[in-house]
Amino acid sequence: MLRFAPSPTGDMHIGNLRVAIFNYIVAKQREERFIIRIEDTDKARNIEGKDREILEILQLVGIRYDEVYHQSNNLTIHQHMAIKMLEERKAFACFCSPEELEAEREAAKEAKRAYRYSGKCELLSDEEVLANEKPFTIRIKKPNQAVAFDDIIKGRLSFAPDDIDSFVIMRADKTPTYNFACAIDDMIHDISLVIRGEDHVSNTPKQIHIRNLLGYDKEIEYAHLPIILNETGKKMSKRDAASSVRWLFEEGFLPEAIANYLILLGNKTPKEIFTLEEAIGWFDLQSVSKAAAKFDLDKLRFLNREHMKRMDSKELSRAFGFADAAIGELVKCYLEEGSTIKEIKPKIEAIFSAKPFDSEWGEQMRRLQKALGEAPPFETFDELKSFLMKETKLKGKQFFKPLRLLLTGAEHGPELSHLYPYLKSYIMEIVK
Ligand code: GLU
Repeated sequence: MLRFAPSPTGDMHIGNLRVAIFNYIVAKQREERFIIRIEDTDKARNIEGKDREILEILQLVGIRYDEVYHQSNNLTIHQHMAIKMLEERKAFACFCSPEELEAEREAAKEAKRAYRYSGKCELLSDEEVLANEKPFTIRIKKPNQAVAFDDIIKGRLSFAPDDIDSFVIMRADKTPTYNFACAIDDMIHDISLVIRGEDHVSNTPKQIHIRNLLGYDKEIEYAHLPIILNETGKKMSKRDAASSVRWLFEEGFLPEAIANYLILLGNKTPKEIFTLEEAIGWFDLQSVSKAAAKFDLDKLRFLNREHMKRMDSKELSRAFGFADAAIGELVKCYLEEGSTIKEIKPKIEAIFSAKPFDSEWGEQMRRLQKALGEAPPFETFDELKSFLMKETKLKGKQFFKPLRLLLTGAEHGPELSHLYPYLKSYIMEIVK
């Protein structure tokens, strides 16, 4: 089984969507189940409604899953596992206050050495623990030897016991920390492969250590994806608007194009433009580059245009508030003028809005409007043009400029002969 495990703590980051996409593809390729696990154990950081938003995004992108779990529902299991570890002396109660720990961290920083837990509370006797009324966290004992694993993208990685350290598995409020909850849930969900962001590399030996101490011997495979850089070469953070999937939707990028882009990013693919379902046929996790990939909005714009071009016209029209293939075709005529729904929408809206009869072309526009009212339904623009020229006696710029304003509400744009086939059934509505 594979899983996507987002935390409902903010807008979905494109790096997370990439993780979701890769997990989905590989689950399909391996014919394994795929679940969504909402990691909501950090109550202080959870944001109400973000879980629903994540599921909506997955649906729009076309990621289907077998089940959704909320990690908080497993709280009793996490607590029981913590008790088991205490009983087996694999973990210990830690009474160090946040202030003490912070002071130790500061001291380590000043001495320019990596902070490690002092190990102080591990030495407490049962009597001392029982006699202590202060709140306590639970720490796992650090391993005796290095923990190593083979990462599908990064190769073999090994971590020394001191780098894993005796870390906290249960907070003072008796909720599990991320590493503890995640390690246990991957175990109880029988996860076979974890694909996640590279920022979790140092968590992996901790999670393996937890499961080792719990006696779980099934090996879980890991693939850590390199980070995505912004256009200036820094890690793409919340401060980069384009890092938010929601922002990209608001800017008028299609889910299909975003998925295409995230699969293409830092990867070798047999083609450039494809759908998520097509990628299942050839995607290879091993060919994902080890190096961080740079986000390129222009490339995404290019892909967006290509996907709009290929999209079913009726479906495309829906993104513009219509349900008519002709409007979808009309949108496609405007792809030279814009690459996103947001850029093209005002142009389609201008066609259906009241026209500027008070402009310098107002008089000619009225003549054309009248003639159009009397015109039979012509098949081609050429036929309509001849009819209108005859009726209005206008020609050249005097004819084309006002006609364009009347039909499109704009002074410039695609050839009227290209637009006409899709406008013709709306002429009476447009010419107003
Ligand atoms: N909740 C973690 C995150 O969103 C999940 C990491 C993982 O896949 O284990 O980063």
